[in-house]
Amino acid sequence: MTSQATGTTTAERRITFFQPDVFDGDRATLLDIIREVGGSAGQRFILGDRTGEFERTLRRSLGAEDVVACGSGTSALVLTLTAMGVGAGDEVVAPAFGCAPLAASVVHLGATPVFADIDPWTMVADPAEAERHITARTRVLMPAHMFSVMADMPAFVALAERHGLRLLEDSAVAQGAVLKGIPAGLWGEAGIYSFVQVKSFGMPGEGGVVVTRDAEIGRRVRMLRNHGQDGRRRFLHHVIGHNSRFDEIQAAFQLHRLPGLAGRLERRAAIADYYTERFEPLADAGVVPPPRGREGRCYYVYSLLATERDALREHLAAHGVDTHVYYPRPLPRQPAFAPYVRPGDRWPHAEEASRRILALPVYAHLTDAQVEHIADTVCDFVRRRRPVGRAAHPAPARGVSP
Ligand SMILES: *Cc1c(COP(=O)(O)O)cnc(C)c1O
Repeated sequence: MTSQATGTTTAERRITFFQPDVFDGDRATLLDIIREVGGSAGQRFILGDRTGEFERTLRRSLGAEDVVACGSGTSALVLTLTAMGVGAGDEVVAPAFGCAPLAASVVHLGATPVFADIDPWTMVADPAEAERHITARTRVLMPAHMFSVMADMPAFVALAERHGLRLLEDSAVAQGAVLKGIPAGLWGEAGIYSFVQVKSFGMPGEGGVVVTRDAEIGRRVRMLRNHGQDGRRRFLHHVIGHNSRFDEIQAAFQLHRLPGLAGRLERRAAIADYYTERFEPLADAGVVPPPRGREGRCYYVYSLLATERDALREHLAAHGVDTHVYYPRPLPRQPAFAPYVRPGDRWPHAEEASRRILALPVYAHLTDAQVEHIADTVCDFVRRRRPVGRAAHPAPARGVSP
């Protein structure tokens, strides 16, 4: 690493997977905000002026038509799908590899998630696979940006146009990512960000936003997040809504933290660049990093593919490095979602990814020494295994680029 170190921590201390001290530097401000909001004359704790300012600030910085803050990223998906008119009998095409809300949000509306296989290297939904799953009942395409790579949004936009479908981007982890000059979340008609603690713009609690290019979706989501009311008149319920409102303390805290976001994302990107540079020579030996470069990239976690994933994970743990497996099984293999699987459907790339994927720590507060220790430990694992690895673990085909 050649960039700045943010502390003097040595690599000897255990490196946790998520940043343990993420809010330490902002604690005094957080306590000030709690006192200010708690002691304010208006006693307004949800959907007040601070939430409004937070929404406007994000909207301006993104160039979005509207930004609507709500209770969580999951809720943002449900509200947006509802605003898009998804309901019983409809199908939504989602990636076979990803987190539960991708499927659960659809099921909650009485609609059916249809799972498309992923690109074997970038692990995001493959547009050609998504197209194969479009039927007369399909209403929405819902690709998700995963791990460190954005989905192929130009292809999804073309696909949605070709089939007359709505396009919702699950950009929960991709805040700050940009592809061809367009921010993640604004490729489709709507996107979402999650602010749960561990996400790139995480906060000490639950929350999320819907970001949209479509004023009508914004208007509907605003009503849906607050029991179907329009914000002008209480107890007039235009539609059946939800309780998915945003907290004033969190809004003020996120406004305080927003100016530092770009710097933190840059530090994550620099760490990811370094890992990729160190790991590219290992591809033939069964450890494959994500594609290099910054275009269409996000750095929520840094996921590599390892043939001997569990052994690598143990090796890292033995050397003080915590890792995560996102996700140990494809969504359609989850008991909760198996009932929605169409007979004969297969997701070989999602299955393979769930066997090989391993996420390394990539947060902004990692010191250069820690980052080097993590990379050294992965390289050391490959060096020890190489005699076997060469013959037995060919690199995957690299024909598909993000
Ligand atoms: C975290 C996440 C969500 C859900 O966000 P919450 O705020 O935790 O509800 C949805 N989709 C993806 C891809 C996520 O990573």
